[in-house]
Amino acid sequence: MATNHPCSLAIVGGGAAGFFLAISAKELMPELEVTILEQQRKVLAKVEISGGGRCNCTNTFAEVSDLRQVYPRGATLLKRLFKQFGPADAYRWFEAHGVPLTVQADQCVFPQAQDSHAIIDCFLREARKHDVRIQLGTKVEDPQALLSKFDFVAVTTGGMTPHQHAAWSSLPLGGVGEGCVPSLFTFTIQDAALTALQGIVVEHSIVHIPSTPFRSEGPLLITHWGMSGPAILKLSSHAARHLAEQHYQSPLLINWTGESNTEEVRQHIIYNIETNAQKLIDNLHPYGLQARLWAYLLNKAQLQGRRCNELGKRGINRLVELLTNDTYTLAGRSPYKDEFVTCGGIPLDSVDKTTLESKTTPHLFYAGEVLDIDGVTGGFNFQAAWTTAYAVAKGIEKKN
Ligand SMILES: Cc1cc2nc3c(=O)[nH]c(=O)nc-3n(C[C@H](O)[C@H](O)[C@H](O)COP(=O)(O)OP(=O)(O)OC[C@H]3O[C@@H](n4cnc5c(N)ncnc54)[C@H](O)[C@@H]3O)c2cc1C
Repeated sequence: MATNHPCSLAIVGGGAAGFFLAISAKELMPELEVTILEQQRKVLAKVEISGGGRCNCTNTFAEVSDLRQVYPRGATLLKRLFKQFGPADAYRWFEAHGVPLTVQADQCVFPQAQDSHAIIDCFLREARKHDVRIQLGTKVEDPQALLSKFDFVAVTTGGMTPHQHAAWSSLPLGGVGEGCVPSLFTFTIQDAALTALQGIVVEHSIVHIPSTPFRSEGPLLITHWGMSGPAILKLSSHAARHLAEQHYQSPLLINWTGESNTEEVRQHIIYNIETNAQKLIDNLHPYGLQARLWAYLLNKAQLQGRRCNELGKRGINRLVELLTNDTYTLAGRSPYKDEFVTCGGIPLDSVDKTTLESKTTPHLFYAGEVLDIDGVTGGFNFQAAWTTAYAVAKGIEKKN
């Protein structure tokens, strides 16, 4: 761009993506004047509370064979952008900027300090070093209007609230897409006998919404309002829009064994029953199920108090059905508003696939959760923020 003054960039939103973009842009273009406009009196609020205060800042992706497993929305775009700045780049970036990291057994990456302030301090230090201006208490109503004052504008406002969605729908931003709905929430299930089992964790469960492709696997936690844990959070993410359309009223199938082959489960149960013929079925606890959960399931199948050799074919069928296809009714989202991210946002077909510049408004860019990209838990959402922010910084560099 032919200007006789240094180019300027306004970043709307001082969260994860906003700061990463500000610092990356200054590292690529030291002359660029960068200003972060933040509506709150505080920046990086979500980073602070993330990962239980420890900030799960990325993931090794070692257990991810297809990005669609972890990004229900945005996988194709991220696959492309990871070539510019992927998880290994993010890992190196933090270590090179004074934040040593550690990898957990489940491949989640955290600061070695086990404290999100390690990341916040790094971002604030780097922003100060590069003279990034930070304007607090500045709510931007119309990002496009900023283009009259700044050469480039990047919107990094995070998950869109219904209010923001309604307000921005009328602006010429190139479309704000479908309304945003929550993702990563837990399930309310009205079953007093089930919720009395609160605190029980089933390490290997498979959860499924019948008549849909939505299913997920992993640990399941029974809570005093219903169900939570990684399997449920993942399912809520993949089925976010479907469940919103159903007003969070839906049947839900639980396989308590983690074994998807029903015939295998049947053989396992028959073997257990034959080798414990004289025992009470109540004392079996197959698949390591905790005694209280097993008693609850037997009660549901009306099989408690029977000896194994009294079960018969019908009893075994009932048991296998209950272990692999136990039906519940989802009665709502958790009452605690514990959603972590939103599903929806700026449609990906309205931005350039490499630079994330708006196709309708030149010099207007988007990064982070404001885009229609979101992931399951495990550090995937922050990785999307770092990757998209870096892509915008490179996009601005190309135009500068
Ligand atoms: C409790 C919780 C825990 C989480 N833990 C993790 C985790 O461990 N790992 C992980 O990967 N992800 C986690 N996430 C998700 C992650 O925090 C987000 O995906 C990430 O913060 C998105 O970054 P962002 O910069 O796009 O948005 P944000 O971090 O939300 O930042 C957006 C900023 O923009 C500001 N803003 C909004 N509108 C305006 C406006 N009009 N004008 C000016 N400023 C505005 C907001 O105040 C905010 O500061 C967690 C989320 C929550 C809620």
